[in-house]
Amino acid sequence: TGKRVAFIGLGIMGAPMAVNLRRAGYDVVGFNRSPGKAEALVAAGGTEAGSVAEAVAGAQIVLTMLPDSPDVEQAVLGDGGIVEHAAAGTLLIDLSTISPDVAREVSRRAAERHVRVLDAPVSGGEQGAVDATLSIMVGGDEGVFQEASPVLSALGTTITYVGPSGSGQTVKAANQLVVAGAIQLVSEALVFLDAQGVDLEAGTRVLQGGLAGSTVLERKGPAMLRREFQPGFRIDLHHKDLGIYTSAARDAGVASPLGQALAGLMGSARAQGLGSLDHSALFLQTERLSGR
Ligand code: NAD
Repeated sequence: TGKRVAFIGLGIMGAPMAVNLRRAGYDVVGFNRSPGKAEALVAAGGTEAGSVAEAVAGAQIVLTMLPDSPDVEQAVLGDGGIVEHAAAGTLLIDLSTISPDVAREVSRRAAERHVRVLDAPVSGGEQGAVDATLSIMVGGDEGVFQEASPVLSALGTTITYVGPSGSGQTVKAANQLVVAGAIQLVSEALVFLDAQGVDLEAGTRVLQGGLAGSTVLERKGPAMLRREFQPGFRIDLHHKDLGIYTSAARDAGVASPLGQALAGLMGSARAQGLGSLDHSALFLQTERLSGR
């Protein structure tokens, strides 16, 4: 295509996604606040910029993959940020997981400066980012979504328009509730089976073959058994996501007893120093709570 795209935030997810855009033929300029994150992109034929301003200069499309709501607000609307330097008509696709309220506010304020914004959070983890098999849920104007679909197709296999600005983030919040619950339940089941002396490999095979089977059990169960908890998706980030969910649920008047409990469990895991481990380390916390 040769179109120039800027990619801001080359972390666990952003770095392989930028590479996939390059492989799809885009001219990709990457920027990350802390240095040393652009190596894979540069090796794939992309370039590294020294600032947001440099990255967005001449880009028709800007993608952001940043940790949290304040990071996106600052990178998009702050001094030296995207809106300040992007040309009128630029398409901004925020792939980060942030609050739906902040997504709507960022979109509204960017539109005043003639930058069109989609919220497009992703699901599928680091593996999905590497393999370009992410599921991407998109909120914003539907015509803008049509325009963005070729670039999103380079990143994922399930690209779904879900409604007006903020809707992508709302769907992602629900996704994060379900994933956290599944990880905690799988952890409890495995610690229980282990405590009862059941062979864990056989036990998980049986669960996976019936109604208890799940993508979480399939992908995270073996890592729990091998006690491998390097991220992947950090507990710190999942704690952020459950905060987004519980606050949106409260605003919507929706009862969420399990969501509250999961937010508490994710918070206590952080307090125990597990925040930079993969969210499957809820298994470790469950063992500790069980005195094992
Ligand atoms: P990460 O911490 O590995 O990457 C974020 C990157 O952004 C870091 O490299 C950081 O240096 C950079 N950064 C922060 N502020 C910046 C700024 N102002 N300008 C430029 N760079 C900046 O996190 P991640 O795991 O890649 O997650 C990114 C987002 O994707 C989060 O919102 C997360 O919730 C979401 N997400 C992650 C996963 C996963 O499995 N890791 C899956 C789906 C969604």
